[in-house]
Amino acid sequence: MITIIGGGIQGVTIALKLIDEKVATTKTLRIIDPNPYCHQWMSITNKIEMEYLRSTSVHHVHPNPFHLKQYAKLNQYAQGFSGYYKRPQLEMFNTHIHDQIKSYQLEDCHIYDKAMALHKAGDIYHIQGEHGVYKTEQVILATGMIHVHHIPEFMQDVDNNRFTHVFDYNQPLDHSIDVVIGGGITAAHTVRKLTKTHPVTLIMRHDIRVHELDADGGWLGPKNAPLLKNAKDYKERRQIITEARHSGSMPMHLKQSLLHLQQNNLLTIIKDDIQSVNESSIQTTNKNISYNKIALTTGCSKQLTDDPFLKQIIEHFNPNIAPCGYPIVEPTLEWFDNVFVAGPLAELELGPMSRNIIGGRKASQIIAASIA
Ligand SMILES: Cc1cc2nc3c(=O)[nH]c(=O)nc-3n(C[C@H](O)[C@H](O)[C@H](O)COP(=O)(O)OP(=O)(O)OC[C@H]3O[C@@H](n4cnc5c(N)ncnc54)[C@H](O)[C@@H]3O)c2cc1C
Repeated sequence: MITIIGGGIQGVTIALKLIDEKVATTKTLRIIDPNPYCHQWMSITNKIEMEYLRSTSVHHVHPNPFHLKQYAKLNQYAQGFSGYYKRPQLEMFNTHIHDQIKSYQLEDCHIYDKAMALHKAGDIYHIQGEHGVYKTEQVILATGMIHVHHIPEFMQDVDNNRFTHVFDYNQPLDHSIDVVIGGGITAAHTVRKLTKTHPVTLIMRHDIRVHELDADGGWLGPKNAPLLKNAKDYKERRQIITEARHSGSMPMHLKQSLLHLQQNNLLTIIKDDIQSVNESSIQTTNKNISYNKIALTTGCSKQLTDDPFLKQIIEHFNPNIAPCGYPIVEPTLEWFDNVFVAGPLAELELGPMSRNIIGGRKASQIIAASIA
């Protein structure tokens, strides 16, 4: 039995590839996720009313890079892709996922549970879930980090009902929110959505940074991949990844959209450092801003051990970890004895695109070849 923990974009991508390559069947594959497949992704992106993805047409869950283009043609999507980068329309992208889940009968593999702990008896892993124990020979960790929200230090003493983290997909973006904190695409989409009904203030630490993509796609190919492999140690690898990832950035069309909202007095952009926040106001270095409710678009935690499940694995198995706290894995993406990783957990091996949709494709190819 092969068990993928996490049925998000990457978990589904890996499952399709394992089935495609006949490394697994729906009888020998299990996917553990407490929610419907890709629920977290779909809930957050629908909540902020993102219309088009940031990534390009060849980045999706199916093993064939051109599958989404063919799908768009077959299903006659008039505006399936946008602009020079051919960014897929979110609705089409999500419908494509649903159709793949159906056509590969992935629902047959789905265990609706949350993994809490991992143990091993002989050659068999025991995954402790909230509702049961699942035995398996091979484990693939595809849990991502989006469920572990980064709450900045300055929010620590603020009452929970005064703010929301946009990645908390159970919480709607309610009309009382008048301040957004953050500077990346989640902030931009959140502002666009909120300003449909009322003016908002966006507080960011830096000028709007424009990058069309999260990182150069060349990081997964022969162009840049050797730079990572040739780094002298894992500290240098982390530095390369940090510099190559354009975190807190957005494509030009989103910047233009924000500037347009600003011109129409629907948006105030404050570029400043936040010093403190109390129940009614935000103190930045230069301003005091009163607020009604805050939306944080500050991303996910950088500490893997902030996820109790990953913390248990690290404490129990004592696997190889780099100084930044992330797994040191084999080129096969095996972290330790038959435990494979994808997404952020594979970042030191796959590089800056590892946590993106295309990182899931790369991980799926390597893991399918490793397990076969
Ligand atoms: C607003 C927004 C826009 C984005 N746009 C793009 C884009 O255009 N292109 C791009 O490449 N990337 C984009 N990203 C990044 C994107 O989130 C990832 O590419 C993609 O979701 C990563 O897939 P994943 O499977 O690693 O994580 P997720 O899709 O978040 O899935 C992780 C899954 O693991 C499950 N899980 C977690 N812990 C456990 C546990 N203990 N037990 C069982 N299940 C567990 C969760 O329930 C979840 O279903 C965007 C992100 C955001 C927030």
